[in-house]
Parts: sequence; structure tokens; C-alpha cells
Amino acid sequence: MGFTDTLKNLRNSTILKIGNLYRNKQSWGMAEQQRVKHVLDLLKKEGCPICYQNNEDVKRMFTWFLLEYYGTQPWVELLNRSRGFCSMHTWEVVTQHMPEQIRWPLGLTYLYIINYDLEEIRTVVSFLERYKLSSGEISVVRNKKLEKLIMNTVLLEPCPACIELKTSTTNALKNFLMYLLKPEIQKAYINSEGLCLPHLEQALNLAEGETLKELVNIHLPKLYLLRSQVPCGQERLFLLTGKRFFQEFTLLSSLEDKEICSTLNRPALNLNIKHSCYVCRKVALTLQGLWTTIVYKPQNWANRISEFCSRHRGSILIHAYLNNLDIAKEFQTHLLTSKIEELETLLAASEIKKDPKPPQICPACEVQNYATLKVLKTVADNVASSVNPRNYWKSLDLCMGHFRKLIPLASPAAIIYIGRYQQEKLKELLIELKEYFRKEDYRYKDEPKGNEQTAWLRAIELYCGFPYL
Ligand SMILES: [Zn+2]
Ligand SMILES: [Zn+2]
Ligand SMILES: [Zn+2]
Ligand SMILES: [Zn+2]
Repeated sequence: MGFTDTLKNLRNSTILKIGNLYRNKQSWGMAEQQRVKHVLDLLKKEGCPICYQNNEDVKRMFTWFLLEYYGTQPWVELLNRSRGFCSMHTWEVVTQHMPEQIRWPLGLTYLYIINYDLEEIRTVVSFLERYKLSSGEISVVRNKKLEKLIMNTVLLEPCPACIELKTSTTNALKNFLMYLLKPEIQKAYINSEGLCLPHLEQALNLAEGETLKELVNIHLPKLYLLRSQVPCGQERLFLLTGKRFFQEFTLLSSLEDKEICSTLNRPALNLNIKHSCYVCRKVALTLQGLWTTIVYKPQNWANRISEFCSRHRGSILIHAYLNNLDIAKEFQTHLLTSKIEELETLLAASEIKKDPKPPQICPACEVQNYATLKVLKTVADNVASSVNPRNYWKSLDLCMGHFRKLIPLASPAAIIYIGRYQQEKLKELLIELKEYFRKEDYRYKDEPKGNEQTAWLRAIELYCGFPYL
């Protein structure tokens, strides 16, 4: 078994049932009557019922975390192993809250995480130094003990908010499909806005037989209507319908939309893109190039839009919109048409049955993965051969995510370098975070405030990199 396989297996075996730590267990242990009522209530809400449930669940988790659970032992352990929330959820929390609500809990979270990470990296580096593996003669992969140490550093457990999101989606979809054939649910469903495209796709995968047929029958007219509205829709409609195409729309638009971009000037989101991680920057530029190509040649790409994953469809629509509303509408129309055709084919068959489709790889994900690997390989080679590796490493300013991805690609000598320098960076940040908490103490609260006040945000940038990479 190869190194990567070992990593994968370990990851699969460590998915935790962490929901019990905070979830209100009552909500899914309800009697049938209550569950039907719950689905009916969801269908009355504006927008996709599954998205609504997801938002509620994830928001509730974060409310509990920010008010009560941060800094408690189970959460500290959980977040140490996942090194915090994932980039998507962290940026979501940052855009949705005022700095004073999150500075303390997130600052404390990173204080623990940095201590934990420093220990992990120190163990790997000192192991390599002690056994003089730095000469590069002994392969990293062949040394079992080293392999395990590196895995601890490289391998992370999934983000607790992602686990919550996944559980919430599965439960909500199952519940929804289970009662879909009930007349009162059908009636409410027909009158509702229906599922968003990504959730409709998931529901289609889960549903079978009559339920599947019902799902298609209810959704086709909704999709026809939406498609007929797209060409005449103005900007506002585009933004509203945007939510129907991909779940991350709100966050993406708040980060990239030209009008909502003013959000970026909020103190909480004072992103200094220029000084961020070299790999993040390179990959972001590559993707930017791809969006430009797509937006300038929509005729080549419009009928391929359904090949992209939900997240990257979102990026394409946002960039098309920033460029020209009509191009954005063309993409939306194509996306709807391809979904409509798929559903019509499904319905036309004598017996409704899904063809197992080969798993599709999103073209943008492919570009992103390839670009990341290429840049990281160059970095790994350059660190080892650089005349002044310290300066070279400093100029890269790698985020923790890309630092972790770099380790399995680097030679033992390079791991020693990058491990040492990343430790220095973490230590500097740790000092600042400690300084922030010292000044929060009533005895020192009158001391002038300085850079340490934004250390929590720099910790987020260091651990999460660019939003949406
Ligand atoms: Zn949805
Ligand atoms: Zn997450
Ligand atoms: Zn990065
Ligand atoms: Zn993708």
C-alpha cells in the first residue's frame, strides 16, 4: 500500500460522530406526525428547504460554539485534530459575525491549534535530525516510524462544521424523500420554490421508483419557469436565482461581487491578499485565467457548464456576471437546459431508472489540483537547492494547508528546512496571540492596543489561506 493510500484509509477511519457534542438530538428522533409537520414547515420557507435546514443546523452549531463550547476540552481536542474549521466555514463565520463576537473564541482556538501544531512539527523535524536522515539517503516513505509521524502532521480530521453540514443534509433529504408521496407534502412541494440545483441533484441520486418519478414531475415545471425567467431577469433576479444554482452563492458573492465587495472593507475581513501564501496566489491566478478564458469565449463553454462542480459553477457565474450580465444569463440558461433534458430523458423511459453515470471530474478542480501540485513540486525542489533557503521560504509565506501538502513531496533535508521555518512563523503568531489575551486581562486593559489585536485574523489567514481555494 502506497503512502497516499495509507493517508486515505486513515482519513476514512477517523470520521467522528461528533454531532452528539452539540446537536439537539430531539430534532431527528421525532414521531412521524412531527416529522411530516417539520417537512411541511420547511416547504413554507423561502428558497430551498434543505438549504434552510442546513443553515439552521450549521448556524446553531456555531452559535453554541461561539457562546459556550470554545475552549472546552472536547472541542479543543476536536479542533486541534482538524486544525480548526475548514477554509469555507471559517470565512463564512468571519463574514457573518462582527469581529468582537469572534475575536476571542477563534483567537483562543488558534492558540491551542498552534501549540498542537508546533509540537507535531517539532517531533518530525527532530526525528529527521536525530537519525541523520537529512542526507536524503533514506526514503521518507520506507521509514515506518517517520511515515507515521509525518501522517500525524499532514493528515487532518474533517472540519466539524462540514460533518454537521453532511449530517444535516443527509437527514433532511432522507426525511423529505420519505414523505414525498404523502398528498399534503406533494401539495406543499408543488407550491414551494423547490430544491436548489445542487440539492436536487443529491435528491435524484437518493430517490428510487415512485418517489423519483414524483420528484422529477414536480421539478420539471419549476425548471421550465426558472429558465423562462432568466433572459428577462435583471441584476436583482440574477442574484436571487444565483442561490438556486449553488449553495455557496452568498459567501462567494460577498467575497467577489463588485457591489458587495465593500464587505471586504469590514475590519474583520481586512484581507491582505498581496502578502498571502505563494501557492494560494499562484493557484488563484491560474483559476482567474481559466475564468477569463471561459467568460471571453462563452460559446465554447456554455454547454459544458454542467460538467463543473457546484462550487466552480458558482465562480463561473460570478465572474460572468462581473463581466457581462448577458453572458451570466447564457450560462444559467444552459445549466437549466442540461438539467431539464436529463429529467425529461428520465421521465420518458418506460420504467423510471437511473443510469449509473461515470463519476465526473470538474474541469476547474482538475486545473486547480494540477496547478497546486506543479507549484508545490517546484517549491520542494527549490527549498533544497536554494542558496539561502531561509529567505526563500520566508518569501513564500506558505499557508498551513499548502505547507502540509508540501511535506510528502519534499526530501528529508527540505522537510527539516521548511519545518524549522514554519515553526518560527507559528511561534511569532503565538506570541502575538498571547499578547492579545494578556491585554484582555483587566489588570493590563489600559495598555495601548497594537498589532496583537488582529493576530486572530492572521491566524485564520495562515490556516485557511485564500477563501475558496
Ligand atoms: Zn439547497
Ligand atoms: Zn467545513
Ligand atoms: Zn496557500
Ligand atoms: Zn470544481
